[in-house]
This record gives sequence, structure tokens and C-alpha cells, in this order.
Amino acid sequence: MNKTVSTLAATGLLVAALSACSVPTAGDAAPAATGPQGTPAATSTVQGGGASKSFSVSQAAPAIIPQDASEDPYQRVLYDAEALQPILDDFWTEELSYYGLEFDTPDRFEYYVGDGNGTCGGEYSDGTNNAYYCSFDGDEHVAFDVDWLASYLDEHPGDAVTFLVLSHEWGHAVQDTWVEQQPGVDYWEGPAQELNADCLAGVFWDNALRNGTVIEEDGDAEAVYGWLEAAGSGDWMDPGDHGTAEQRQQAFSDGFTYDVDYCRTYY
Ligand SMILES: [Zn+2]
Repeated sequence: MNKTVSTLAATGLLVAALSACSVPTAGDAAPAATGPQGTPAATSTVQGGGASKSFSVSQAAPAIIPQDASEDPYQRVLYDAEALQPILDDFWTEELSYYGLEFDTPDRFEYYVGDGNGTCGGEYSDGTNNAYYCSFDGDEHVAFDVDWLASYLDEHPGDAVTFLVLSHEWGHAVQDTWVEQQPGVDYWEGPAQELNADCLAGVFWDNALRNGTVIEEDGDAEAVYGWLEAAGSGDWMDPGDHGTAEQRQQAFSDGFTYDVDYCRTYY
């Protein structure tokens, strides 16, 4: 907690905005409440006005997530993913439409435990403690180790890590849309593509909090920045390939503060 706190202090703006996180809420949560396939209302939906304004956590909380679902960590992660999928799809579909682009939504998300993940375009690589976006044409999907995401719930019961990781993976889907529909414009070196995905995750979070499709809960900022710090310096996917702790935090913060153009220009 100590390390996280000092980092958070450096990004005060975000802290204020992100101090709490998500849980579905019943009815008043507007568009997200009904997903395309009748998905349950979002895990994080709601309310409230600007990011820095009040959010009604009490209202937001238990209403929609069934007790049993919230008690079982796997179910909780899957419930969040199911709720978040249409929110992410809708956001990026609208956002990219401003640029004349048609968001190529991931066909689905898959979950697995340990190395039990499927293939991407027929190729397999161990997905233990990981999540990934498969960009293979016709097989575009997001996949994650449900056990890994569930493992964060003890320390961060607000689900923020699930939200962050999925937001990041959807960022890769945005990149894939750019590459396919505007070939030759984007290229990334080193960790830049991962930092770009972190930046896009920040854009999503900022907008989702402001338009009320995601609600904050206590501890979310700590969860987000703490996770980015650990994942930046550590073992998430290929060590180092996602950037340093500071770079990852900065990228997310930049997306949160600025916009898609900023992410696309600077990452
Ligand atoms: Zn990534």
C-alpha cells in the first residue's frame, strides 16, 4: 500500500476521480443496463454525474449482482466480463465512428484456468496468469485466466482489476481496427503498443465514469495504479514488454486525462 500511495499522490487528479469503483446497479443505469443479448445490467453501471462528483455507491451496489454471484470469485469475474463487454463495445463503436471507423468488436470473450486457454488462429501459447486479445481475422476474441483475475478480488474487492485488464484488451481491439481500416498509419515499437492499450483503457474509464456506465468504488484508484505498477515491473506477459511501472501508470493517466487522439499520437 505504501508504494501505491506515493504513486497515487503524484497523480492526484486521477485519484480524486477514481476513488471508487463498480458494481452494477439496477434500473436507472441507462444504456448499459441492457446489453445486446439481454445481458444483465452492467456491472458497473450507473449514475452519477461527473467523475469527481458524487456517486452513490450504496445505491449502486448490491442491487443487481446476485449475492451468490458476488460471493463466488469466478462467477464474479465472469459476471463483470459479461456486463462489461457490451459497454466496451458500445463505447468504442461510438467513439471510433467519430473518426469514420467501424469498430471491429471482439467476437467473444473466453475464459480459462491456468494454461487451459484455447488457440488464436490455430496457435497456442500458455496463457497462465494472463489475458490477451487475439487479432487473427475471423477469430478476434479476448481471453483471460479467470483464476488470475479472481485472485485480485481479495485485495481489491471492487473488481477494478477485472475492469482494467478487459479495458486494456479492448484497447488492442481498437488498435486492430486502426490497422485494418487505416493501414500504414500506426506502428509501435517496444512496449508502445501495450502502453497505447493502457492509454485507451484510460480513455474508456474516464468516459465511462462520466457518462455513468461504470461506477467507482472505494479502493479502485489504488487497485488500478497498484496493478499497473506491479504489472509494469513484473511478470505480466513478457516481462518488460508492457513498459515500466511508471510508463504504464502514465499511459493510463494520459488516456484518462486526454483522449483517443492523444493516445494515438503519443503512444
Ligand atoms: Zn496488451
